[in-house]
Formats: sequence, C-alpha cells, structure tokens
Amino acid sequence: MRRTRTLAGIGIAATALLALTACNSGSPSTPGGDAGGSTEAPSTWFEVATDVTLDGSPTFDKMEKADKVTIGVKEDQPGLGYLDVTTGERSGFDVDIARWIAASLGFDEDKIEFKPIASANREQAIINGDVDYYVGTYSINDKRKELIDFAGPYFITGQGLLVAADAPEADKLEDFNGKTVCSATGSTPIQNIKANFPEIKTQEYDLYSACVEDLLNGKVDAVTTDQAILIGYAAQYPDDIKVTGGLFTEERYGVGLAKGDTVLKDHINTLFTDGGDIWQAIFDKNLGSSGIKVDQPKVD
Ligand code: GLU
Repeated sequence: MRRTRTLAGIGIAATALLALTACNSGSPSTPGGDAGGSTEAPSTWFEVATDVTLDGSPTFDKMEKADKVTIGVKEDQPGLGYLDVTTGERSGFDVDIARWIAASLGFDEDKIEFKPIASANREQAIINGDVDYYVGTYSINDKRKELIDFAGPYFITGQGLLVAADAPEADKLEDFNGKTVCSATGSTPIQNIKANFPEIKTQEYDLYSACVEDLLNGKVDAVTTDQAILIGYAAQYPDDIKVTGGLFTEERYGVGLAKGDTVLKDHINTLFTDGGDIWQAIFDKNLGSSGIKVDQPKVD
C-alpha cells in the first residue's frame, strides 16, 4: 500500500537533455512523472549514433547480430534504476546512463531490452552473456574485477544508513551492535558488515525494497547500502524513514562488462570523458533535487 507512493521531486522536465540533442525536432518537452521519469519518449534524449564500428568488441558483434542491446539494471531503486509498473516507464540516473551508452552504440530506445538483475547475480549474468552491459549502482572492486571488467567510474557515493524517522541519529555502524540491519545479498555493504562488524545482526534480501518494507514494518532497525540509494527511499516515505549519519565507505559506480572487451570499455570511457554536459544533464534530471552533491568523476 505504502509502496505505491512515488518519489516526490525527482520528476524534472526533460528540457535540459532535450536542449542537448539534435534529433529532437521541436516536440514539446513534458515534465516528468512521479517516479522520476519524463513522459517524453526516451529516444529523444540522446542522439543515436549511426554507422558505429567497434572492431574487436565481441559484445558489440553480438549486439549487432541480435539487432538489440540487452542491459542489466535495477528496477526498485527510485532516482537510480526504477520501473513504474503502472506506466511501464523506466527512469533514474543509471537507466539514463545506460540509454546514453546505447545511443552512442547506435541503439535507439526500441532496440533496448532492459533486464532486472539483483546485486548477487550481476557477475554471472555478465559472464553468461545474459546482458551486454550492466548499469545499476555497481561498485568497482578488485574481487569483481577478477570476473568482469568495469568502465568508469561514472558516479561516487558511499555506504550509509536508513532508519525510522523517530529513531535517534546514528553516526557510526557500531551504533547497531546487537541490532538488526538489512541489506542486499552479494552487495558490498552486507559484505562490509559481515566482515568488520560481527556484533551487528543481519537480514538479507535480493532487493533493497524488501529491506525498506521490513524497516517500515519495524522488523529491522536499519537498512544499509549506498547513501544515494537510501536517499531515494527516504524521499518515497518522508514521514516514516530518514537517512542518518555520513558515508562509511567509498563506492565508485562502474558499468559492468565482459572481461577482456577493452574495445567496448574504451568506447564507454571515451563517451564519459568527451560527453560534454550530458552527464550533468542526466544527474540534474534524476538526482538534481535529491540533495546529493557530486561531480562527475574521472574515469580510471
Ligand atoms: N554499490 C554497492 C554494490 O555494488 C551496493 C549497491 C548494490 O547492491 O547495487 O554492491
């Protein structure tokens, strides 16, 4: 019931992005829907490249053969990767980054297949070729780099805490010793808690939205994951839950790619580096009113 409430303040006019594209032939921009997306057809956001060649990229060869791109995403993280089940519209910073990459490879919105993949299943989905690339709050780290490659980083946040609105402020994870903290299986925050905070009890789900549900129902004392994700949930339920404390880690988001596809990796890194104002426009549209202050990071 409460879950049907949508994130306020994220639906921003697409004018900033529209202004950047050459292919929008004067169709009026429409302010976005509640959950963070514009009602303007996403295909007008970015100019779709033509005659793209990416010699030596097995992933791009596969996309060309399939005449589509398959992108792994999250769909329960408002502001970052979100699916509005009523309208079928996908929105969020990560989703727009994914669309921007697709457009740079020559794929319009109607040639994109989005696949929701939970945190624990990302590496395997990339290894299996179930997705061509993954854009969804995916932290770059050495363990994951043994299995896959990352382009980026394209965003930086850190582990934070979400608690009940009437709970005392907390500024360190140890404040939850003896209490129960919820996070997603396979995520860096749950790994951090298990490895370094043995006195904290944990509850795990595939999806953060299940943790938020438990927090709203008083079944857990806190949800922990990247603060950028938690801010999206707090905005959905401002009377019930709040973000507390600072950032406990540094999480650098990358685009997950098949290991060894350096041609695709270099293509995406060049896009990020030479993309002009597009990164900022995507940020402003999706997270501009969230209170998050972050500049585009330099790629590795
Ligand atoms: N960025 C962290 C990670 O990649 C947490 C968010 C997530 O699970 O997607 O594990």
